[in-house]
Amino acid sequence: MWDYSMSILVSVECTRPKAEATVARRKRIEALRNYSTMIHSEKPKGIDEWQGMFGEIFEANLATLSLKDIALHLMEELGEASNAMIRMYSYKEETFRSGEPNWRQTNLETQLADVFSWLFALVARLDLSRHAKDKERLYGSTSVPAPPVRLSGIIWGRYGSEEMHSFRCPFCGKIVCSCAIIMVPATRPPGELKGKFQGVN
Ligand SMILES: [Zn+2]
Repeated sequence: MWDYSMSILVSVECTRPKAEATVARRKRIEALRNYSTMIHSEKPKGIDEWQGMFGEIFEANLATLSLKDIALHLMEELGEASNAMIRMYSYKEETFRSGEPNWRQTNLETQLADVFSWLFALVARLDLSRHAKDKERLYGSTSVPAPPVRLSGIIWGRYGSEEMHSFRCPFCGKIVCSCAIIMVPATRPPGELKGKFQGVN
């Protein structure tokens, strides 16, 4: 079931020896964090720059992966982030060790970074597909090429407002969202709770 090509884009995290001891792994992460603080001003500033950086890192691999490969791997990373989140809040007294909450958070942060690397890979792959489609579409024609696919543009398309020159909530339309957030347990019908919140907006 597992397609080997899907592990090409995996970060450094996945290529380290599996048997790396916990202590060594934690030391490595601490050193990386210190380095990250040191070079703070040299990091990409905006989302487009981050996309460019990931695009360069993954350039050679992107062409060999289909959209489906990348989408499936993104889902896998979301599952790992979800698992790490559950572990943040589920301790057993007998296995609890001092300092463990911080390391569990570090694990969640690592998974979130993986989610973002695959999200950027997905956007970069969409942009590659645009190039291919444009080549066919524009052959011998004078039409203009489609604009590049950027994550910043995708987010703006959903949350931005040209009239307001700002981001806004896509549901209530306000810059500061005033939607009522209703958490409905899976065991209860949504209509039952919805009735209690009518008129909140
Ligand atoms: Zn809202």
